[in-house]
Amino acid sequence: MTGAGNWTYFLPGAHPVLIDAGVGEPAHLEAIAGARHDGPGHVLVSHAHGDHISGVTALAARWRGTRFSKRPWPERDRNLAVSWTPLADGDIIPAGDSQLEVIHTPGHAPDHLAFWHAESRTLFSGDLVVTGTTVVIPATMGGNLSDYLHSLRRVLALGPSRLLPAHGRAIDDPATIITRYLRHRREREIQVLSALEAGLGSVDQIADAIYAGLAVTLLPMARESVLAHLHKLQHEGLARVVDDVWTVAM
Ligand SMILES: [Zn+2]
Repeated sequence: MTGAGNWTYFLPGAHPVLIDAGVGEPAHLEAIAGARHDGPGHVLVSHAHGDHISGVTALAARWRGTRFSKRPWPERDRNLAVSWTPLADGDIIPAGDSQLEVIHTPGHAPDHLAFWHAESRTLFSGDLVVTGTTVVIPATMGGNLSDYLHSLRRVLALGPSRLLPAHGRAIDDPATIITRYLRHRREREIQVLSALEAGLGSVDQIADAIYAGLAVTLLPMARESVLAHLHKLQHEGLARVVDDVWTVAM
């Protein structure tokens, strides 16, 4: 699910900051040591998915003074044996020779944060957007599509000139890709509503209809996405569920 791997971003300078912890790969730790022998200083974690957070243990073991900060998601965070400094929307964090603003961007995960460098209009965007594909909204694991769409619109309104995501290449045309994402979700929603109107009442049936021909290994994530759409429609009074059977709400 991580494409070609994970990016983390290291900002050296007066206040060294590492954005995302990676997974504890020895090569990653060596790269950090090569940039700064006394370690990353302060690690900001975008969200508590394993590919972003699991490296904190290895970082803490190698550099004892390291600070770790994220927006709390207690049932996930407690699995990692480091002490966390909580971050909240709007916090300003010294980073490198400048500063970052914390932007809460829930949806893909409830604790998801992006980090805004106002001077360069650059957003370290975590898993908010990935070039060439869409972002999974894991409905049974804290994902929320309404929140996600709100986060996308909020980032669009910031007017970033560049997104630095945790997967895939840097995005130099944020408005184009975010607008495309919003349109894609609208189209998907119409498909889900049409499936409901056609009498398909289960997540599996709807996923099979919408994602016909999808590789079997990807079906679980397609179902998560369908459920995320159904939750949004339910929240808006457009769909309802009785005994696990979904219908259009009239
Ligand atoms: Zn993620």
